Amino acid sequence: MDTDNSQIDSGPTIEELIKENRSLKRKFALAETNYNRLLNVSSTLERVESILYDSFKKELQFFQLVLENMTNILLLFDFDGRFAYASNAFLQRTGIKDFSSINGCHYMDVLRSLVSEQKNNVLYDAINEANTEKRTVSIELEIDFCFKDLPRIYSILVTPMLNEHGNITGTMALFNDITELVKTSEKAQAASKAKGDFLSNMSHEMRTPMNAIIGMTAIGKKAPDIVGKDHAFNRIGDASSHLLGVINDILDMAKIEADKLELSPIEYHFDNMLGKVLTVIHFRADEKKQILTFNIDSSIPKIIVGDDQRLAQVLTNLLSNAVKFTNEGGRIHLEAILIEETENNCILQIEVHDNGIGISSGQQDKLFNAFEQADGGTSRIYGGTGLGLAITKRIVEMMGGAIRIESVLGKGSKFIVTVKVGRGSKRESPADGQALETDVFPSGQPKDIFVGKRLLVAEDVEINREILITLLDETGIVIDCAETGKEALDM
Ligand code: ADP
Repeated sequence: MDTDNSQIDSGPTIEELIKENRSLKRKFALAETNYNRLLNVSSTLERVESILYDSFKKELQFFQLVLENMTNILLLFDFDGRFAYASNAFLQRTGIKDFSSINGCHYMDVLRSLVSEQKNNVLYDAINEANTEKRTVSIELEIDFCFKDLPRIYSILVTPMLNEHGNITGTMALFNDITELVKTSEKAQAASKAKGDFLSNMSHEMRTPMNAIIGMTAIGKKAPDIVGKDHAFNRIGDASSHLLGVINDILDMAKIEADKLELSPIEYHFDNMLGKVLTVIHFRADEKKQILTFNIDSSIPKIIVGDDQRLAQVLTNLLSNAVKFTNEGGRIHLEAILIEETENNCILQIEVHDNGIGISSGQQDKLFNAFEQADGGTSRIYGGTGLGLAITKRIVEMMGGAIRIESVLGKGSKFIVTVKVGRGSKRESPADGQALETDVFPSGQPKDIFVGKRLLVAEDVEINREILITLLDETGIVIDCAETGKEALDM
């Protein structure tokens, strides 16, 4: 059989096939490499995506936490003024249970039921101004949400939210509760004003007796007879003790401010201490024809342990105030009661009542602050430093007690003091109804115990030395004098 060789497709030669095979293998290898690279890239992208997602999620959770826990009220409104977000602080303050109940509602509709119309208008104006002028507007507003809370003072920052083209997309309002800050600053302002008033009162309080001393000294010098000189001396004596009182108050207050006031407890006779205080006050009450009465609980131990001088200072201050702020012919009463006792201690309550000018309830809280007086007019009419009650409060607190006041303006006042004292070693009580034994040193009567005793006066200021010698002369004590510490030691 004949075969037409020209029509037979001889096909690729072996070499061509080998070549093509090689080329295909190369292409395949390249494709495989690219494929693997793509796989790598895709898995890298997946990893990057997951990392980004995780960090975005974390950031989102972080900001959510910040927003949920922020104590400030943060409100976000959309372009139309509809609620887009409200922080928990807002929901808590307003009693709104779930944000979804106000989500999308216009802020005016929501706030209408929560704050007064006038406050709502102020907020509306601030939001309008912020959006119109594209800047943060700051306002201060006192708001009592739901009309039931005590009003709080907020500093509110209203800021427009602008997109990258500078167009407004919404508004943000951040409420910062500054109530405590405002109160503290008001207190600081009041304290600074009180200190200012105190300084001007003080210069008056010091200058008046100083002028009296200088004036009366001149009058005394010129007085032709002993009666005139005596009168001048008496006035100088009164003015000096008043001045000493003012100076003592200032020194005590300085000690209190430096936390240096200390008590010196001793064993003492409670009735005697009261007797001395009442004798001094009795003279002042007499001058104003006032009736001074007292009642001492017979179960109070006769001998107690404490700082008698400081307790006397407290009672003198309360009783002097009672005399000072009660009109002529008024009544002043002191009551001492034993309210609690243990084996070693007692709690005494001492009350000072008067039917004087009284103090309004608004002024009562301020009285125990240093430099405060019931009102500016009081100091002008009655004088005084405004330090007495602050010192009294501090002393009473140091004695483990407290002081409070009950008063009605125009009707009178009652100051109630409690102090903790120790029981003395001689545990005896005065018999019922026994009169107070007052142990005031009778002027001009030398006490037997001093006669024949010697005393060394060491004082470098000549006038002070002279005064001490003159005063001690009456006691019958033999007095020696030293002008310096060294001289005193040598003697
Ligand atoms: P001072 O009497 O020296 O001004 P205090 O601290 O003792 O200072 O008293 C402060 C203020 O309290 C007085 O200025 C007065 O306004 C008021 N006050 C104190 N005691 C009485 C009282 N018994 N009756 C009326 N007001 C009083």
